[in-house]
Amino acid sequence: MLKIDTHTHILPRKLPNWSEKFGYGDFIYLQHHKKGAAKMMRGNQFFREIQENSWNPEVRIKEYAKFRTQVQVVCTVPVMFSYWARPLDCLDVSRYLNDDIAELIVKYPKNYLGLGTIPMQDTELAIQELERCKEIGLSGIQIGSNINDLNLNEERFFPIFEACEKLSMAVLVHPWNMMGEKNIQRYWLPWLVGMPAETARAICSMIFAGIFEKLPNLRVNFAHAGGSFLSTIGRIQHGFECRPDLVAIDNNIGPKHYLGKFWVDSITHDPLMLDYVLKLQGSKKITLGTDYPFPLGDLEVGKFIEDMNIDSSIKEDIFCNAPLEWLGVSKERFI
Ligand SMILES: [Zn+2]
Repeated sequence: MLKIDTHTHILPRKLPNWSEKFGYGDFIYLQHHKKGAAKMMRGNQFFREIQENSWNPEVRIKEYAKFRTQVQVVCTVPVMFSYWARPLDCLDVSRYLNDDIAELIVKYPKNYLGLGTIPMQDTELAIQELERCKEIGLSGIQIGSNINDLNLNEERFFPIFEACEKLSMAVLVHPWNMMGEKNIQRYWLPWLVGMPAETARAICSMIFAGIFEKLPNLRVNFAHAGGSFLSTIGRIQHGFECRPDLVAIDNNIGPKHYLGKFWVDSITHDPLMLDYVLKLQGSKKITLGTDYPFPLGDLEVGKFIEDMNIDSSIKEDIFCNAPLEWLGVSKERFI
C-alpha cells in the first residue's frame, strides 16, 4: 500500500547567517558541532539539537523504508516562519527554504512532495511567493496558526487564501507562536497544551469568519488531528447556539457543519482518539502525519493505525487517498 506522510519537517543542511546579513533579529542558524548533529541557534541562544535526518534526504528515505513508507511531504520547521521580521527579509528567508525543498523534490520525485513558507505579514509578498512556490513545483504552503498574534480570520489574510484556492495550492496550518507561551514554560506546556489550543484557535477563526463558505475549494489540513478542536466541538457548537451574538457574527452556519470539510492529520498517538476523529471527520479527511523527525512525533509512522482493528479500506484512505486528495496529486506519480 502506498503510504504518504503529510506532516514532516526538513531544513537545508546550511543556513545563511541572516542576523548578520540583515543586521538585526534572532534568525535561526545551524552550528554543525559534531558529525551527524547540529545545534539550531536562535541568535546566541540554543534552541534545539537536530540530527542528520533533519537535512539528509537519503537518511530519511532509509528510515522511512523501515516503516514501508515511500513518500514524505516536507515543510520547514515553524520556528523558521520569521513572520516577525521585515517583510522583504522574511521573503528572502522563505525563498531560500523553498528553493531547497524544490531541489529535493526534483531530485527524489517519488519520495518527496513539498510545502513552502511565505511572508504572511505582507499580503502582497505572500501571494508573490505563493505563486513562485507553485512554479517551482511545490504542492502547497505551511502557515502558522496565528500571524504575529493576528488570527487567520483577519481580512488581510483572505486574499492569500483566495490565491491558494485559485492556484490549487494545499494549505497546512501548523501551531506556532503559542498563546501564553511565556507563562507556561515549565513542563513543556507550550508544546503539550499551547499547540493543541493554537490549532483549535485557527480552525475556529477560519470557520467563524466563513472562509470555508467563501472558498469552498480551498484545501486546508490542520496539524495534530486539529489540536483540541475536535475534542471540544460539542462546547464550540453549543457556544455558537447559546451566544450567537458573540459567535455567529460573521457566519451563521454552525461549526459542526464543517466537520469533514477540511482535513486533519493522524497525529493523536492514541487509537481511541483516532477512532473518535474518524467518526467525526470520516476516513477521507484524515491524512497520515508524523511530525518526523522530532521526538514528539509519531516516529513509527502510523504503526498504531496499522495495529487498529479497522477496515483496510479505511487505512488506505488515511495512508494514501486522503493525502492525495488534499495535495491534489495523482497516485501515478509515485509508481
Ligand atoms: Zn510539525
